[in-house]
Amino acid sequence: MTRILVTGGAGFIGSFLCERLIEAGNEVVCADNFQTGSEANIQAIMGSRSFELIKHDVRVPLHVDVDEIYNFACPASPAQYQQHPTGTTKTAVLGAINMLDLARKVGAEILQASTSEVYGSSTIHPQPEEYWGNVNPIGARACYDEGKRCAEALFSDYRRQFGVATKVARIFNTYGPRMQPNDGRVVPSFIVQALTNKPITIFGDGTQIRSFCFVDDLVDGLIKLMKIQSAVAPINLGSPHECTIRVLAETVVELVGSRSPVEFRPLPSDDPPKRTPDISKARRLLDWSPAVSLTEGLGKTIRYFENVLSQRCGDNAQGRPSGAKKPFPDLSFSDD
Ligand code: NAD
Ligand code: UDP
Repeated sequence: MTRILVTGGAGFIGSFLCERLIEAGNEVVCADNFQTGSEANIQAIMGSRSFELIKHDVRVPLHVDVDEIYNFACPASPAQYQQHPTGTTKTAVLGAINMLDLARKVGAEILQASTSEVYGSSTIHPQPEEYWGNVNPIGARACYDEGKRCAEALFSDYRRQFGVATKVARIFNTYGPRMQPNDGRVVPSFIVQALTNKPITIFGDGTQIRSFCFVDDLVDGLIKLMKIQSAVAPINLGSPHECTIRVLAETVVELVGSRSPVEFRPLPSDDPPKRTPDISKARRLLDWSPAVSLTEGLGKTIRYFENVLSQRCGDNAQGRPSGAKKPFPDLSFSDD
């Protein structure tokens, strides 16, 4: 049986990854400090004999005997990582060092959750892996972008200097159930706003381009990447189907059948105007491309948030004081 460590395993992507790895017959150790993750995300696997949860901060070294490591611990929502900028950089960089040291010590293969943010406000579109990026090194997003870029440098050097078996996935915008209703990313924000008939907050004029990958597709790609030996350089994983933020807003409103008006707000600084992956390398090396359409994936995500919101109403109707139970992350987290 393969024993696998997933850092950030109580988060949005990490929790689906843990589930899939257990379903495939592996033993999973999840290490998470619950900064943006929640026990609700891993509720379904908490009772499994193949699952172990360690409350741990990756900024601190960890020793567990494992065969594989997926390093996913890091806040990913711009609103959340910018709330704790120094903590974010430390998580990205010290987390990478600590997990690479562990991989080296126990001889594990290690996969890094990198990001399309390494390309910054790209001057090439769509972005191939060969592009070095255009990142503002001192801007509001730098804590995350530069932290993840440094992590990529570390992954490359641990491979070259120490022979550690590293893999790097450059993940583009991924969405699905278990994102937090209040995490600030565009998909959960628009869905919750539409379901509650509140204004849909479009930042800027809504012409910025993103491409959205459903979480199940991403997890397929991650597991394939861990398995192959030939991918020594970073590889893009994401949807190649582009969508403007304005079209995303219209699609969500239509699917929900909402009465929400649109409200335009200022564009946050360094918000990349165009981001879409070139996934030819993933197609060639992993035989991977996303299968779930945006409407299908949004439909599943909308149903999830409908349940979350109706449960919250139910809780309030039963008189539970708000904050008595914490199903969602504590944004006042201050362990920077
Ligand atoms: P998320 O915020 O839901 O999950 C992150 C998890 O890491 C949470 O459970 C959080 O509690 C945990 N964590 C944060 N700091 C930690 C620390 N210091 N020690 C231990 N645990 C810590 O975000 P997500 O969307 O699931 O993203 C997961 C990973 O994928 C991140 O590394 C992120 O950078 C990467 N990624 C995600 C996307 C996306 O679109 N979702 C895109 C690119 C990259
Ligand atoms: N965005 C928006 N309204 C929101 C949240 C985000 O218009 O309520 C925009 C944001 O400015 C960006 C895009 O949607 O252009 C995607 O934002 P997100 O935070 O999901 O991720 P990013 O791609 O910026 O990392």
